[in-house]
Amino acid sequence: MRDNPISPTVDFDRKGVHHGHLKLPYSHDASAWGAIMIPITVVNNGEGPTAILTGANHGDEYEGPVALLDFVSSVDINDINGRIIVVPMMNYPAFQASRRTSPIDGGNLNRLFPGRPDGTVTEKIADYFQRTLLPMSDFVLDIHSGGKTLDFVPFAAAHLLENKKQQEACVAAMRAFNAPYSTMLLELDSVGMYDSAAEEMGKVFVSTELGGGGSTSRASVAIAKRGVRNFLVHAGILKGEVTSEPSVNIDMPDQGCFTSCDSEGLVEFCVDLGEPVRKGDTLVRVHDTTRTGTAPRDYIANIDGILVGRHFPGTARMGDCLAVVGVPT
Ligand code: ZN
Repeated sequence: MRDNPISPTVDFDRKGVHHGHLKLPYSHDASAWGAIMIPITVVNNGEGPTAILTGANHGDEYEGPVALLDFVSSVDINDINGRIIVVPMMNYPAFQASRRTSPIDGGNLNRLFPGRPDGTVTEKIADYFQRTLLPMSDFVLDIHSGGKTLDFVPFAAAHLLENKKQQEACVAAMRAFNAPYSTMLLELDSVGMYDSAAEEMGKVFVSTELGGGGSTSRASVAIAKRGVRNFLVHAGILKGEVTSEPSVNIDMPDQGCFTSCDSEGLVEFCVDLGEPVRKGDTLVRVHDTTRTGTAPRDYIANIDGILVGRHFPGTARMGDCLAVVGVPT
């Protein structure tokens, strides 16, 4: 396969803290021989394992970028045994446009793995992670939140894997992240995900959903910052102790967790995030806004649990994910 066109301005093997860029050539109207410059930091000291930390895999999710930019500007090299590769804004063109997907090619980075070295801009980013960065790593943390169209209770997540030993290692790292909720996450659509790419390589992989709505809160950022440190301490790379605040374990047994919209209109939630629901309860009502005097469409919980995710902001369309119910265990 051909080489990836991205060239790093940092040396992954040099000791110290190095800030630089992943330089991705991109010729376009505003810059004929231009490049997309994706910020990257490499922290390297001692013989310990390698962790890759990423945010803004989706460009409108901000806890990751905030926590990671903060971490790399404050890290003390003397506290490190191993290597940390940090890309706070993974799909940088999407991040710059405050969008989930890239404005250049429409690419949803987290659906395009393994990527292509000769593909679109977003496919080239995916290929660079797939064939260059992931193979260097032992531990992988990818910080997501809901973006502009979803909101979540703050959770760290692991997946059910065929390799149970690997799954156990992922679950242990998820618990160490120590978000208020720890979820065995069922994906609606796992093809092409960075998660799957890392897991298929046998890496210890943790993902998160730490909030949403297209911004952050003091609380969600604090969870992300604490989680980054805990994850690195757990990996044996950062000096310190893992915090252990209470965390609610959540299971997602089947597709009944998800409620999607088959109407269109104004959303009225009957349950708030984190609140308990019983099978048959009305989760959300969608009001027809094309006329007055019609009854809303009621969406009912398929299982007992708590509301862990919801549509954002105030209106919904056909096919939108309206609500996610998880089962506390
Ligand atoms: Zn995301």
